[in-house]
Parts: sequence; C-alpha cells; structure tokens
Amino acid sequence: MTGSARVGVVLPAAGSGRRMGGVRKPFLELEGEPVLAHALRPFLADARVISVVVALGAADAADPPVWITDTDPRIRVVEGGTTRAESVRNALAALPEVDVIAVHDAARPLVTADVVARCIDIALAGEGAVAGCPAVDTVKQVDEEGRIVGTPDRSRLWYAHTPQVFPADMARRAYDADLAGATDDASLVERLGGPIRMVDAGGSNLKVTRVEDIPLAETLLRERRKATP
Ligand code: C5P
Repeated sequence: MTGSARVGVVLPAAGSGRRMGGVRKPFLELEGEPVLAHALRPFLADARVISVVVALGAADAADPPVWITDTDPRIRVVEGGTTRAESVRNALAALPEVDVIAVHDAARPLVTADVVARCIDIALAGEGAVAGCPAVDTVKQVDEEGRIVGTPDRSRLWYAHTPQVFPADMARRAYDADLAGATDDASLVERLGGPIRMVDAGGSNLKVTRVEDIPLAETLLRERRKATP
C-alpha cells in the first residue's frame, strides 16, 4: 500500500501548560523555533502525509499564527477540547479520508523522521504503533494516600510517548467511544483489543512538561543539529 498510502496527522496542542505555570508550551521557543514547529517538521517531511490538523486553544484557534497556517498547505487548525482526548477527537473530525492516522503531542519537539516512518510503516501493515522506550525506573503503584500497593515487573514496562499511529478505522472507532480517563490514544484502541506494538524511540523523545525540561530539550536539539547540519 506504501506507494499510494495516505497518512493523516493530528497534533493536540491545546493544553493549558498548567505544570509550566500557564505557559503555552507549543509556542515556547527552543533554539529559535516554537516547540510546535519542531514537532511538525518530521511529519511534513514525509511524502505520505496528506493532511495535518493542529488542535489549538480557543483564542489561538480563532486567530492562529501565520507560522502554522502559512507553513504548508496540508495544515489546518481546529479548536481543541477540555481534555487531550477531546482535542484529538475534534481534530479527527477535520481529517479527510486516509489509510493511517498518526497522533503526536505538540509538546514533543524531538521526535525523529525515522521514528515517524517506522510507526507509519507498522500501521500501514495493519497494526497500531506507539513510540516509547523501556522503563528505566522501577515503577510503584500507590493508593490514594501514596502508600505502595504494588511493584510491576519492570522488564515488561515501557513508557508510552507519541507518535501513536493506527490504521484509520481503528483510530476512528476508538475515538467514537467514551473518552473518560484516556491519557493517550493507545489506551482507547486497547479497549477495542488492539493489536498495538511498541516502537523503541530511545530516551530523547521527551515531552516538554516542566520548566526544567527546557534546557535539556535545547541541548538535545543543538546536539542533533551538530550531528546533521
Ligand atoms: O497534558 P499532556 O502533557 O498529556 O498533554 C499532551 C498534549 O496534549 C500537549 O501537546 C497538549 O497541548 C495537548 N492537549 C490538548 N488539549 C487539552 C490538553 C492537552 O491538545 N485539553
């Protein structure tokens, strides 16, 4: 299918940036460019991508910056929702018919073209693909008061990042369902039975979440530019 494959991309970018004191993370500049511009680039570079829908907060969606709307004719903007899952659902409604749908958090500026391509290839072959990496910390399950109730086997734990890429019908059916409690896309597809596999994206595909992530993300971007001028 690869020759004529059509890929649609959804970028949820409508978060309030609560953990960064209300900073709109997608608009934050890293190495001279907004986080969202970094996150978009590897998708726009993939010729299979025919449409990209960015979900922005209400005020930004009403008056989107030109560096989003004028960058590439494949990009359009919609208004996000009150949760990430609602923002993704709104964006899905604006995507044309495609074979595969990729969802990528606008707050992940370090995603590589290689990871994007590997996830898309898996979805074109009929399975879901989630970028991530094996857990390096021991993970504790706790009760409401923070007391440990369990320690899952770390050798079977992965951190789930984005992109999360699925055959289009799989993604659309997942988002037709109840979205309560969904913090990623795969959890909704899992409820339908999958199948979904993890794709090792290494440890540098970080989500810019806290203030201390900014210098780390800038260092990684700088190192990458030096390696691929
Ligand atoms: O909150 P979290 O870190 O999981 O957000 C992941 C992504 O989802 C971010 O890019 C954020 O802008 C987006 N988001 C959204 N709409 C919301 C909340 C988060 O598009 N209501």
